[in-house]
Amino acid sequence: MSVTIRTVNPATGQPLAEYEAWDAVRIETAVARAHAAARAWALVPVTERAARARHLAKTLREHKDSLARLAVTEMGKPVGEAEGEVEKSALTADYYAGHGPGILADERVDIEGADAWVAHEPVGLVLAVMPWNFPLWQVMRCAIPSLVAGNGILLKHASNVTGTALALQDLFVEAGFPEDLVTALVIADEDVPDVTARLIEDDRVAAVTLTGSNRAGAAVGSAAGRAAKKSVLELGGSDAFVVLDDADVETAAEAAVKARFTNSGQSCVCAKRFIVDASVADAFTAAFVAGVEALHIGDPRARDTRIGPLARPDLRSSIQRQVEESVAAGARLLTGGTPLPGDGFFYRPTVLADTGPGMPAFDEETFGPLAALTVAQDDEDAVRLANATAYGLGLSVWTADPGRGAALARRITSGAAFVNAIVASDPRLPFGGTKRSGYGRELAAAGIREFTNTRAYWIS
Ligand code: NAP
Repeated sequence: MSVTIRTVNPATGQPLAEYEAWDAVRIETAVARAHAAARAWALVPVTERAARARHLAKTLREHKDSLARLAVTEMGKPVGEAEGEVEKSALTADYYAGHGPGILADERVDIEGADAWVAHEPVGLVLAVMPWNFPLWQVMRCAIPSLVAGNGILLKHASNVTGTALALQDLFVEAGFPEDLVTALVIADEDVPDVTARLIEDDRVAAVTLTGSNRAGAAVGSAAGRAAKKSVLELGGSDAFVVLDDADVETAAEAAVKARFTNSGQSCVCAKRFIVDASVADAFTAAFVAGVEALHIGDPRARDTRIGPLARPDLRSSIQRQVEESVAAGARLLTGGTPLPGDGFFYRPTVLADTGPGMPAFDEETFGPLAALTVAQDDEDAVRLANATAYGLGLSVWTADPGRGAALARRITSGAAFVNAIVASDPRLPFGGTKRSGYGRELAAAGIREFTNTRAYWIS
């Protein structure tokens, strides 16, 4: 019996589209074709692969409006941010078109009596399990470097953004990549764990990358371990935003609002825990709460909307639970704390003060418009609190003295450290986590080399 995937517009709660989930025969056919396409693509010279990435950048920009509209309707992202995703994807395609061949070039090694070099060759077909929160960017962040490296992609996108997955598959072909090189698999939710585990075991699949929750990461990581295959895991975050006693409080508070409420709070690198020195805590809190209360919440299609709905009703229920349990444990609700009435999955931008270890708002990842404030007595205390988490993705430190900020950052574990700036990914810098935020890197040279065979040549 066939299973139907139904997508819903989270701003209205109304159905959007239905897709027939694939059965085992259709999956097998797709894997066979994708494998053949990847084998042929691996023989295409890297300069030609990079030229297609250049064309992809152009194609992305040509389709900016329709792609952004898909993200708005499927997961409720405010339209300006959705357009930003397309632009960032195009910039990344341009980056790898320009830098990919150099990063992947053979490296000569000076060995007496031998002609020796190190090559970065394709690995084959990569299974990419992707989340809905940046439905365009997450796919591009992983697919563009993999394709320039000479690999193919089997895309298992989140089911609530199936329309985006299929549109991106077509876009790659329009940009000049071969048919079947990027294949969007349409898998029913209940089949996802089994199908992904089987694909990871399949000899035709060389490696797997997952961006998503720790639960899904553990399933995929253990399947990859059993099959002795390379995996990259980009998982959750509970990033600290540390404000030191000499920081410009107004500037830091304005940045803090952006850092927490981008994508309606649904980003792995959104700042989630605001650790503020006691001497500036009152001033920072007042400016921050004023900024949060000024955020316009509503229709994600409207240009002045800053906060759209959460992507699914269960995400809203999780935020509500985290708020209630944190308040019961002693946190103070400064603003928000309730859903918006109506059919969409909206939740008011929320700030909790007096949070700390032992409260869900501090201990768990909060994936929505919820900020947790904590007062630190001094720098030592700020380091202790920032490190008091299972996660370690990004860190943002605010201070009048950048050297002091960098020195403090070295004492806090994370995959990226930003001083007087908001954490954000950039194609020129590697991106990834430490601790339970995952392992491996995307973007820059480190990202494209994750899925290459670093191969030694010795010719006597
Ligand atoms: P999720 O449930 O883990 O879903 C992500 C993807 O994994 C989806 O395609 C999902 O498919 C699939 N999946 C779920 N369970 C699986 C399993 N047992 N085996 C294989 N695949 C499985 O994630 P989410 O909660 O929707 O997304 C938010 C999470 O992603 C947050 O924790 C966030 O921090 C993290 N994230 C991390 C980064 C980063 O770069 N570190 C970036 C963005 C998001 P279905 O949709 O069909 O269930």
